[in-house]
Amino acid sequence: MSLLKVSNLVTGLQGGAAVVDDISFEIAAGETFALLGESGCGKSMTALSLMRLLPDGVANQSGQVALNGVSLFGLPEREMRSVRGGKMAMIFQEPGLSLNPVMTVGEQIAEVLELHGEGQGATILSPSRPSPLQREGVSQRCIELLDQVGIPDAARRVYEYPFQLSGGMKQRVMIAMALAGQPQLLVADEPTTALDVTIQAQVLQLLRETQEKSGMGMLLITHDLGVVAEMAHQVGVMYAGQIVERGSRKDLFVQPLHPYTQKLFAALPHEGSRNRPLAAIPGSVPPLGSIGQGCRFAPRCDRVFAPCREEAPVWTTLADGQGVRCHIYAAGVAGRVKGEEGRVEGSLAGREKEEGRREKGEGKREKPRSGIVPSPFTLPSSLLQVSDLRVHFPIRKGILQRVAGQVKAVDGVSLSIEKGRTLALVGESGCGKTTLGKALLRLVPPTGGCVQFDGREMVGGRAQQRASMQMVFQDPYASLNPKMRVAEILEEGMSALS
Ligand code: SF4
Repeated sequence: MSLLKVSNLVTGLQGGAAVVDDISFEIAAGETFALLGESGCGKSMTALSLMRLLPDGVANQSGQVALNGVSLFGLPEREMRSVRGGKMAMIFQEPGLSLNPVMTVGEQIAEVLELHGEGQGATILSPSRPSPLQREGVSQRCIELLDQVGIPDAARRVYEYPFQLSGGMKQRVMIAMALAGQPQLLVADEPTTALDVTIQAQVLQLLRETQEKSGMGMLLITHDLGVVAEMAHQVGVMYAGQIVERGSRKDLFVQPLHPYTQKLFAALPHEGSRNRPLAAIPGSVPPLGSIGQGCRFAPRCDRVFAPCREEAPVWTTLADGQGVRCHIYAAGVAGRVKGEEGRVEGSLAGREKEEGRREKGEGKREKPRSGIVPSPFTLPSSLLQVSDLRVHFPIRKGILQRVAGQVKAVDGVSLSIEKGRTLALVGESGCGKTTLGKALLRLVPPTGGCVQFDGREMVGGRAQQRASMQMVFQDPYASLNPKMRVAEILEEGMSALS
């Protein structure tokens, strides 16, 4: 029996359009099912439907979700509460909004232990009762969990509040909370998106080890094909609220069938794409309510043919069990599948063949778009020149707040960027990348060094000079003013620059 069985799930706005439309999949114990797709295709809403945590105005309209054979939609809310965090836990995408800002991270993990984990059965938290974190075994377990997810100095961090942690650390606290209840099924919504590569590898390894030890099933929601390749046993590709392809990881990576899946693979950078523009999928996922008849991917599909615009494709299961929602593979046109297989553009197998041909000098190399790669005969002109940039923060101590030392966040960095080129700054969380970016725009004052933009000195110059340099911040929730409408935010930016 499957651990989780989702059958024909439809979730939508009350009395309106479906956000998740007729989705079915199963997850066995110890297995990872990855739900893959771009933003806005309904992945997170699928997860919230399973947890029965849908926002106001959205409801499960039909279908079934069963955990260990028990229908979750039939459970009273009181019983569902003991399922959440216990048998089924979820790691949310945005840890900044998911953690309680007025509780220490240790208290939040201890609460899960108290309700669902080792401390289960104890009285539920109450104001008259000391925090469970004060109990020796519980605090030790909290520290162990923080340690497991790679939080340095866990014994100190356990007493800190979420605002004292970086985005990556908050995400790791969320993972520790999810694992504290030893769930049978973990729903992980983009669990490593905010993490740098080294921490990402640690967290994925931790999830894999936990799965091997406990036989935990996992629904992994991601847009990252690298994470899918590393973690998934089965994969479902979602587009505009529907699963358009489903199969084993191996089948999907060797022979992606749906044109959308093929385009996702084709968009990956690889050795052969050096100095060439990356393949992009034109257009975007259709907004809710604008889905008409025919295939939802038709406006973006380069293999569209007459029936695609008139009839919605039905689900077709092929001989090897791989399923796809596309007219190319449907009965009646199935004979064309064989011919199509030879030109799977995005598969790894196809790519290897293509690269082999290139190495042998066969086939024409695509000409780079003009302006992307500068001619070797023109000298690049430097747009940004940074020399020996330093940003040091004082450490103040004592009642008089005397400077007792310095944190050297950026220390003697020099770099230059030519017009039309991109410089990638790579490093772990906390290594000074963001501080360097802010110092270039003087959003934090540099301690020393020189920043020249288009021939003008920025350090010590007028603030208006930074109009020609802009920054996109890491966390949109913290950057956008929640009291202002989108148009007002854009207008404010434009009037400040004019
Ligand atoms: S049904 Fe037609 S438009 Fe849709 S993905 Fe298949 S070929 Fe493309």
